[in-house]
Amino acid sequence: MPATLLKNCNLIDETGAITSGEDLLIREGAIAARGKGLSLDPGEAGETLDCGGLFVSPGFTILHAHSPMHILRGLAEDVNVNDWFNREIWPYESKILEEDIYWGARLCCAEMLDHGVTAFADHYFHGEQIARAAKESGIRADIAGTVFAFDGNPEPEMAPVAELMDQYRDDPMVHIRFGPHSPYICSPKVLETLAAAAREKGGGLHLHVSETAAQVEESRKKYGKTPFAVAAEAGCFTVPCIVAHGLWIEEEDLALLGEDTYIAHCPKTYMKLGAGRGPIWDCWRKVNLCIGTDGAASSNTVDPLEQARLFALVGKMEDRAEDFPIREVWQVLTRGHRALGFGSGKLVPGAAADLLFWDLNTPNTAPLYDPLAAILYSGESRNIRHVMVAGEFRKRDGRLAFDLGPVLENAARHARGITTRGKGVSKLHFG
Ligand SMILES: [Zn+2]
Repeated sequence: MPATLLKNCNLIDETGAITSGEDLLIREGAIAARGKGLSLDPGEAGETLDCGGLFVSPGFTILHAHSPMHILRGLAEDVNVNDWFNREIWPYESKILEEDIYWGARLCCAEMLDHGVTAFADHYFHGEQIARAAKESGIRADIAGTVFAFDGNPEPEMAPVAELMDQYRDDPMVHIRFGPHSPYICSPKVLETLAAAAREKGGGLHLHVSETAAQVEESRKKYGKTPFAVAAEAGCFTVPCIVAHGLWIEEEDLALLGEDTYIAHCPKTYMKLGAGRGPIWDCWRKVNLCIGTDGAASSNTVDPLEQARLFALVGKMEDRAEDFPIREVWQVLTRGHRALGFGSGKLVPGAAADLLFWDLNTPNTAPLYDPLAAILYSGESRNIRHVMVAGEFRKRDGRLAFDLGPVLENAARHARGITTRGKGVSKLHFG
């Protein structure tokens, strides 16, 4: 792979610190050097790109997604969270096909790359279709194979996930982990089996916890403890774990989380489905908070910047304007890299070259007093001029590196199939 020399960058690192006039040398998908006056080796094949005026930052991550659900975007609107699952999405999903999953994921990958997402954590079944979509799009994916285990036996659903985990063990673009759905669908015994399997295989978990206040109440009635306590007792937080939501986390839950437990916060979904302003907004500094989207079926977009902006704005709304400073919200946006283990997220030699190139000299962001404020409160995907993943441009001068035509055509064709087949009967119940 030819080298790329990025000259005269303004760098914004993962902490929000900004420096000017630096060069980055990219070789073999990673940052090989950072400094002033760098050059390619004599005779070295490569491109030199003048980044004067641009701001270069680590890529964004989405720590909780259901990428195939792009195929269902806009299908269930103006309903509450219970009806969204029980009367709309799950009945439609009961008839979903493998190719729907693939094209939904392809469409999602396209939108994510446009929004500057260089790696995402997904939760769905048929992970092999998501892996295929991610690799063809050139985005990194950490895919949790969903396990429901309605009859209490997770083995039949775990086997293909374990197989996929072995298949992608050394892949720099795709990681696989187990995805027990949640403590309200999986029994404590099932959670325990999956945590043990993750430990044994050197993998991790990704599950939904305390998404609504009603779930916490139900769990207390059924088990005498919160969903976080149920998951903790099963050993879920003793392995690398991504928690989707944790919106209704309680004070007593905080001590149960491990060092390698990350919470994916998806405020647009909470607002849209009426899930409430949960206590996560009051204890976010005490957990490893990251940004998720929950997928486009509930969030309509997969834009981490929009989610981070809503997180800060909802937090500030009731006389707490000073409690969500821009620089700390930026750290929430960039923290997901730590959970994913792709070696990305820092602007230092050795780190993966997963980078965003921001043009902030535009009508929606100028004049520029504070680049982080411009990004967080005014920025849009059009300000991300280039996106680099593993040293390769996946978006360049505002255009994705692959042809979007077939992706849009196939997504539209599969969406027609979904409405033609209609709703089936789902085994799942949300509440
Ligand atoms: Zn979810």
